[in-house]
Amino acid sequence: MRALIYGISGQDGAYLAEFLLRQGYEVCGASRDAEIARSENLRRLGIAEQVKIYSTTLTDFRSVLISLDQAAPDEIYNLAGQSSVSLSFEQPVETMHSIAHGTLNLLECVRYRNAKCKFYNASSSECFGDVGRSRANEEMPFRPRSPYGVAKSAAHWQVVNYRESYGIFACNGILFNHESPLRPPRFVTRKVISAVAAIARGGKEKLTLGCTSILRDWGWAPEYVQAMWRMLQQPKAEDFVIATGESHSLQEFVDEAFACIGEESAQHVARDERMLRPSEIQYSYADVRKAEKTLGWRAKNKMSDVVRLMFEAELALYEAESHPWQSVRKPKIRRALKSTA
Ligand code: NAP
Repeated sequence: MRALIYGISGQDGAYLAEFLLRQGYEVCGASRDAEIARSENLRRLGIAEQVKIYSTTLTDFRSVLISLDQAAPDEIYNLAGQSSVSLSFEQPVETMHSIAHGTLNLLECVRYRNAKCKFYNASSSECFGDVGRSRANEEMPFRPRSPYGVAKSAAHWQVVNYRESYGIFACNGILFNHESPLRPPRFVTRKVISAVAAIARGGKEKLTLGCTSILRDWGWAPEYVQAMWRMLQQPKAEDFVIATGESHSLQEFVDEAFACIGEESAQHVARDERMLRPSEIQYSYADVRKAEKTLGWRAKNKMSDVVRLMFEAELALYEAESHPWQSVRKPKIRRALKSTA
């Protein structure tokens, strides 16, 4: 089996590549520029040499067609695009372009080539918007509250439309937040963990945050990529909500992180009004029953496990960067970064 992962240099792309290689797949990937790809994540997982990467911009029909023709995949995973909700308020056009137009272009190439491959699309819990006290399932209408959510909603319905109109085996994974040491520091979870690790080393800087009362469902990324794969192994293409089923406030996440070093968060955290988003999702709850029943998938790691795993990896990473000559430590670092799923 051969898989082609668009967005392979990202958090999920790297863990998915690692997982598929373990399943015996031949793995190809696409990055906007293969020469200068952020292959750091693939190197950290020790798999950079095992994947072939094509230079592909999702919004460029010709470059998508070439990667599709050359890789001739059995399975396509569309994980590429601008992935930050905050940044989407600053760059709404690029967000819409890379996600909605990019996905449409990819689907058009599959249709144009009449390719028989299966197609996974990275949809998002951000499509639901604020769910109040209800749990979002696959039938809940979308009311996105950010340019990112709007773009993801458009891409989601394109996938449904191509499945229904052209019989393409295409699935949306409606994934709630999932984290790991491969998350870029601009994301709040990694920012919190990095700050706590710095304080543990004697750092004095305050951790500045916006609204900490928001609720999110935080899971462990290496487990979530397995759910993506499981969707494509089903007899019928469908969409699935993927989450832990437990929601916690950002404040609880922060408290849990400071507990790793035996400190109270209050003395280290400052609120910065400038970090508040123009519109925010207060409540985010997931109904995970369909994934459990149909895919047999259930998250093993909940929020507190995610915090601990990220914190351990952050310390290991710091050690590696401070003492790069001590290669004897590398297996330990690799273990901390790798999937424990
Ligand atoms: P990520 O680390 O940001 O990776 C996304 C990749 O997309 C990047 O490595 C980048 O690769 C590529 N890309 C293409 N166009 C881009 C653009 N205009 N701006 C920035 N990057 C662009 O994302 P992830 O966390 O692995 O998530 C994978 C997918 O799942 C994304 O579509 C994300 O929106 C979605 N998702 C993530 C979560 C989550 O909690 N992580 C939840 C729900 C949905 P190159 O630079 O190599 O081109």
